[in-house]
Amino acid sequence: MSDLRELYQEVILDHSRQPRNRGELSGDSCRSAEGHNPLCGDRVTVYVDVQDGMVRDVTFDGAGCAISTASASLMTEALKGKTVGEVQELFDEFHGLLTGDEASEGEALGKLQVLAGVREYPVRVKCATLAWHALKAAIEAGRQAEPVSTE
Ligand code: ZN
Repeated sequence: MSDLRELYQEVILDHSRQPRNRGELSGDSCRSAEGHNPLCGDRVTVYVDVQDGMVRDVTFDGAGCAISTASASLMTEALKGKTVGEVQELFDEFHGLLTGDEASEGEALGKLQVLAGVREYPVRVKCATLAWHALKAAIEAGRQAEPVSTE
């Protein structure tokens, strides 16, 4: 298992050092929401371009710890081309994987499974789910989303 754990660590470090899809999106179909995790000080704004019920593009910006940055980066890679319904399913699955609330094996999550180790550190779960909460707020509330806080 330690090999797998090391591989997971490598992916997380890679994404935290070189985040993918970083930046802002603009356009009529773009929405955004800011997320704040006061426990850690993470701040992330997620931008999502939803057209015809499908995520055409998703980016993020902000500053946070390695886990929050890596999670946001991995999330943006995973969600492009997904429908809003599929995004909701992934959100639930990811949340289940991290909190152990449900018997989530995370198979549908692909690379996002690298964050499974976070569940051993409850404080870090909020770092890992921050971008997801912001994404959800952006999709649900539209362009005028209220900032979300993990508290
Ligand atoms: Zn954090």
